[in-house]
Amino acid sequence: MAASHRGSCICGKVAFEVDGPFERFLNCHCSRCRKATGTAHSCELMRRA
Ligand SMILES: [Zn+2]
Repeated sequence: MAASHRGSCICGKVAFEVDGPFERFLNCHCSRCRKATGTAHSCELMRRA
């Protein structure tokens, strides 16, 4: 059975739930991710193929 992970922004307007398990969690600081998110990085989860 896959683990389920939940998260949200602080106010709770945006929430998500994804199924794991995940191989790794990373923050990408490339220019495309900074532009797309409007922040210093994007957060990404990688799953085994
Ligand atoms: Zn990137």
